[in-house]
Amino acid sequence: MRKNIVAGNWKMNTTVPEGVALAKQVCDDLKGFKANCDVVICVPFTHLCPVNDVIDQAVVGLGAENCADHKSGAYTGEVSAAMVASTGAKYVILGHSERRQYYGETAETLREKVALALENGLTPIFCIGEVLEERENGTFNEVVKAQIVDGLFNLSAEDFGRIILAYEPVWAIGTGKTATPDQAEDMHAHIRAVIADKYGKEVAENTSILYGGSCKPSNAAELFAKPDIDGGLIGGASLKSADFMGIVKAF
Ligand code: PEP
Repeated sequence: MRKNIVAGNWKMNTTVPEGVALAKQVCDDLKGFKANCDVVICVPFTHLCPVNDVIDQAVVGLGAENCADHKSGAYTGEVSAAMVASTGAKYVILGHSERRQYYGETAETLREKVALALENGLTPIFCIGEVLEERENGTFNEVVKAQIVDGLFNLSAEDFGRIILAYEPVWAIGTGKTATPDQAEDMHAHIRAVIADKYGKEVAENTSILYGGSCKPSNAAELFAKPDIDGGLIGGASLKSADFMGIVKAF
């Protein structure tokens, strides 16, 4: 059975003290009720150790927002999957559209990152999604399929079973424009069919596919009610515990 998951992506926000306070608040707020889904926060590298010290990962899982595409060595400024895992983090976001767009991440580098994440026991939250032009010219299904095929279909079925997918239409990220629940559901069903074609129905049915893109307390319930939407990857609304809780409570 696939899991329902709400994951926060803090991006490049909060100082360490601010991030520690936010993580503590999220953890305390979650202890106040029984969440009907797994909850994860993905935080900047600098925050991983101090946040891990103040949260209970049985309540809220911890993840990074990226990792290097090399194991170790002369890659100044990079942070390896092993380093991330050594902080206590259990998840890593890979292939976010901001990394693809601003830092030139390609399918090839992403395959390396996914392999290293898995080798180090991290669960990748692998992001896919089309830009506005591809939505408007009708190529979005093929674009998203190609991102999955090129980035992930080198994996064995067993390894693929350790991946969480996040469908994030780029035109909906941070713009206030959300995909309609029907648009999102159509894409999630398409993604599940693409997975079933390669790995079979059981693997496809067991894969958690999250929606991301201006998800907030007011629209989360409608999105999460769709049969193929298994939760959300949340940017802006993960920076205030009350908003994030509003989304968690949508399950
Ligand atoms: C994201 O960047 O992963 C995201 C979904 O951002 P936002 O919720 O702010 O649109």
